Amino acid sequence: MSPEAPRMDADTLTAWLMAPCGLLITSPEGQVMAANQRLHDWLGAPRLAGDALEAWLTPSARTLIHWHVVPQLEQACQAEEVHLALKTARGSEIPVLCGIERREVDGRAQWHWALMPIRRKSRLERELIQARRTTERALQDKVTAVAELEALKAELEAHRRELLEQNRHLEHWAYSDALTRLKNRRAFNETLTAWLKEAEDAEGEPLTLALMDIDHFKAINDRHGHPAGDEILQQLAGLMRATFRDHDAIFRVGGEEFAVLLHEADARQAGSAMERLRRAVAAHTWSIDADVTLSVGLADRQVRDSFDSLFVRADHALYRAKRYGRNRIECHDSDAGRP
Ligand code: GH3
Ligand code: MG
Ligand code: MG
Repeated sequence: MSPEAPRMDADTLTAWLMAPCGLLITSPEGQVMAANQRLHDWLGAPRLAGDALEAWLTPSARTLIHWHVVPQLEQACQAEEVHLALKTARGSEIPVLCGIERREVDGRAQWHWALMPIRRKSRLERELIQARRTTERALQDKVTAVAELEALKAELEAHRRELLEQNRHLEHWAYSDALTRLKNRRAFNETLTAWLKEAEDAEGEPLTLALMDIDHFKAINDRHGHPAGDEILQQLAGLMRATFRDHDAIFRVGGEEFAVLLHEADARQAGSAMERLRRAVAAHTWSIDADVTLSVGLADRQVRDSFDSLFVRADHALYRAKRYGRNRIECHDSDAGRP
């Protein structure tokens, strides 16, 4: 047998040599016994017979043959669909799909190889793997971006809550009196305006405004000092909180002047609430030995009352309480149209 061609008739030999796939016979030790023309052309080898096949394989192909193909051929005499890469004389690689069979010829074992190039398949596979990696990376980027966005959203939400909290604080301070912790004049203006509008809608719902002024407060200050006067103001605020219902609104509208908006209370009901306060003030033990009394002017809401018209009537009533000797409650007589 020629080292380069198996023993066969001339026609078969020609078909073998020119087959459109690589055909190869090696010894079980890996020496090339015969190879067809196609394989010589692919590898750019003038002569393969006598070479160690290993010389024409990539390192990974060698490993694959050693660990996979050899045991397979020893056990089952054939190995199918083996993917490996040939190394050409020019240094390039040709990926091939191989089928290998172990045969006995003249009492000696031979390995018969059929090799199909799979360049296109390999390239497609590489492209597929690349595309999958790109997709995975894009997905990962998306996950990271979403996580960053979520973190940003949470941060924004925290800022928003902080701002709301600060606004609530600011609003509280803008509408409250620092000394007595009652609502201030600004709150009074806005509340009375809003309540009058509401009462206009809910036709006939009673609402009474009480204006209060501490009697001779200047004298108390003069005698006991300004800080003692401040304490009186604070204690009086406490007495008011204890006297009025939760849905009434109490304001400090001036230095020693207060206003109460009595919701759903007519002048008579408001008068008794004020009388309760007057008695509480009289009975209270003040932090200083002072004679604290209040003058109160009341006016209840009339149809088409505006802020000014209601306020002026209550103020007139307060003026009358002062004029008639202080420590008293006067109610504006709406029917008479004058205090
Ligand atoms: P009347 O019975 O006529 O109301 O006499 P009055 O002395 O209370 O009235 P007047 O308006 O003459 O004086 C009000 C006093 O209230 C003068 C001012 O020193 C005092 N006052 C105003 N605001 C405060 C405050 O925040 N603290 C203290 N301690 N005194 C204040
Ligand atoms: Mg006053
Ligand atoms: Mg006063």
